[in-house]
Amino acid sequence: MNQNFDAIVIGAGYIGSSVAYHLSKAGLKTAIFDQGAIAASASRANFGNIQIQDLELEHSVPMILLARTRFATLEQELDWKLGLRKLGSLLPIENENQWKILSAREQELQAIGIPSELVSAHQLTELEPCIDPTNLLGGLYHADEGQLDPFQLINAYLTRARQVGLKEYYHCPVTGFDLHTGKIKSIHTAAGNFSADSIILCTGAYTNQLVKKLGIKWDVLHYVLGQAMVTEPLPIQLNTHLASASFFEMGADIPQGVLLANMAISQSTHGHLLLGESMYEADHFKTHIPGNALPWIARSVLKYFPAFQKLRILRGWSAAIADPNDGLPLFGPVASVPGLYVATAFRSTVIITPLVGETITQLITTGTSELDIQAFLPERNTYVSH
Ligand SMILES: Cc1cc2nc3c(=O)[nH]c(=O)nc-3n(C[C@H](O)[C@H](O)[C@H](O)COP(=O)(O)OP(=O)(O)OC[C@H]3O[C@@H](n4cnc5c(N)ncnc54)[C@H](O)[C@@H]3O)c2cc1C
Repeated sequence: MNQNFDAIVIGAGYIGSSVAYHLSKAGLKTAIFDQGAIAASASRANFGNIQIQDLELEHSVPMILLARTRFATLEQELDWKLGLRKLGSLLPIENENQWKILSAREQELQAIGIPSELVSAHQLTELEPCIDPTNLLGGLYHADEGQLDPFQLINAYLTRARQVGLKEYYHCPVTGFDLHTGKIKSIHTAAGNFSADSIILCTGAYTNQLVKKLGIKWDVLHYVLGQAMVTEPLPIQLNTHLASASFFEMGADIPQGVLLANMAISQSTHGHLLLGESMYEADHFKTHIPGNALPWIARSVLKYFPAFQKLRILRGWSAAIADPNDGLPLFGPVASVPGLYVATAFRSTVIITPLVGETITQLITTGTSELDIQAFLPERNTYVSH
């Protein structure tokens, strides 16, 4: 049986759930599909940090500033407690090169209205008393960041969408597409074919695998496998979430197969420490953790927090994250296949979710959007063979 919708969303992570919510709210008859459960991939693996400073500073500035305004009213909009808390973030700085890179970022962030402050090693320990400042020059502090519960956010989007008619199909991989006179027409699944005027790919790291069925490959889009782990709960509290400044020294290209570890540490509201991240660019979707990843993460965290030496690790996990070479999302209509849209590979994904859902809905219902998406169009680096 072929069922008809106005819009079909593929992927039920952070991005797909927001897109499904906004489309359903706008009155479009919408369905969402995921090959696994809700939040089956990167969106079940993350720390829920509401990052705003980790942006590409050329084209992404208007997007993140607009996203911030939409995010500010999200709890009211969804009428849902998202576990929001303001934490602030710290990037501890180890060497002169990192200091130089981050002091330039401090200036640029301040100029666009994102609070950012270089702090001395002494100030660092005032902000985060558990940190060992011995080998640190200082840090870059962002007072305006925070954290939420990822599952509450995704659950809120999908529940509110369901209340206005969203149809959901989980454990239902999309395996192919039909076109009619060059325009997207339907998707293939084990539950049958489903047709829609608009189909939106919110498929994260899996996007190139899926658009291969349409003869498309977006060369700009790669993916990394990111690994993390969680400890037993701790009575002491971290005041911030922290990530090593060495991330900004790395540049965009991670050599394939090379395992990198950047210290990232957050504490959940229940006291568990979330430790990350090691990552490597991959050409497969295995979600097992390479044997050397967990010791790397542990070492990178203990360098800053030797007091955590005796903590027990409860479990570790891995997930594939879309990683575009140019740091820009793939976001907007696919020019070679009318009716097909893509929204994937965002940095600072949590804060961007409401704006992405709103923008896709505007594009589908009006053909234009308040946000200028020119720099993010997927065709910026495409090979089309059909
Ligand atoms: C350890 C770790 C910590 C992180 N911490 C943070 C953080 O604190 N803050 C932050 O903003 N970001 C963080 N991230 C990044 C963040 O998790 C991702 O950017 C985000 O989850 C991407 O969401 P998405 O919806 O685009 O993709 P995904 O969550 O990957 O969703 C894509 C969905 O598409 C589905 N899919 C794919 N192909 C098909 C198909 N053929 N048919 C049907 N369904 C399909 C998948 O099953 C998946 O559910 C972290 C990542 C990791 C790994």
